[in-house]
Amino acid sequence: MSILVVGSMAYDTVETPQERRERQLGGAATFFALAAGADAEVRVVAVVGHDFEPSHLELLTARGVDLAGVEHADGPSFHWSGRYHADFIERDTLATELGVFADFRPQVPEAWRASEYVFLANIHPSLQRQVLEEVETPRLVALDTMNLWIETTREELLGILPQVDVLMVNDSEARLLSGERSLTAAAETIKGFGPSRVVIKKGEHGAVLFGRDSVLSVPALILPDVKDPTGAGDSFAGGFMAALARADADRNSDDAPYRAAMLDGTVTASFVPEAFSVEGLIACEDGAAATRLATLRTMMIP
Ligand code: AMP
Repeated sequence: MSILVVGSMAYDTVETPQERRERQLGGAATFFALAAGADAEVRVVAVVGHDFEPSHLELLTARGVDLAGVEHADGPSFHWSGRYHADFIERDTLATELGVFADFRPQVPEAWRASEYVFLANIHPSLQRQVLEEVETPRLVALDTMNLWIETTREELLGILPQVDVLMVNDSEARLLSGERSLTAAAETIKGFGPSRVVIKKGEHGAVLFGRDSVLSVPALILPDVKDPTGAGDSFAGGFMAALARADADRNSDDAPYRAAMLDGTVTASFVPEAFSVEGLIACEDGAAATRLATLRTMMIP
């Protein structure tokens, strides 16, 4: 099973109420690829600049991620900087420096055009569209976006949603995109734009699947210590898509594999906030996910 992702590979400067870390490894595609795990064949389409450290590329390849679609360009890598509020949910973007992403024209390698699962991670919608045009009949397409693109490139975003099966956004993005306050109304409006399923992430309050004919609300695992939630949403998507691929699900499947994948997404995302950057995902030991899945199940029954 092959999962193709297009999205940022980046350096992030993150400020939390406790600490500030400069230029740590980040990017939506980076988190997604590491989170989807070694048993999925993950293929990355992205661009990195001259300052992207070879050791960071090796970190991904050592974990089975295929970087044949990553272009090396002459310029600075994407740099994002953000500051978390005391609740670790709200955050302000302080800077988005596109760097080499500004002139990026994604090229999907010939051998990847038949990729089965496609994740259009949070990036300019025109890049998401170009990748979508280069893949032939994928079994499932999911898309993430953010307030920046909803506000500045709304028409382009709405233009690709008819080809998207699952939209994955956080609650404020769902409200911004739909113009609705209620999440149920927001999901219904978004379904009217194209996707037949909508996943709304709510940070430490969990995530909700608005499926084709069911709704599932999954709590987040309760973590004793939160250091840096950056990338938790992308890692949720990685765990979610890998579970769908393992289950051989496609857009015509009923809600059952999607409901199960919500648990995998939740467990995968839970490793991220415990450490900065990708450290929580990297440190995750064999068996840790199974233990957390069991804990999550006990949290969901009376
Ligand atoms: P998440 O916390 O899951 O929403 O993802 C955060 C990651 O998204 C960070 O590692 C950033 O590098 C990346 N990111 C933030 N803003 C953007 C943007 N406008 N376009 C692409 N990637 C972004």
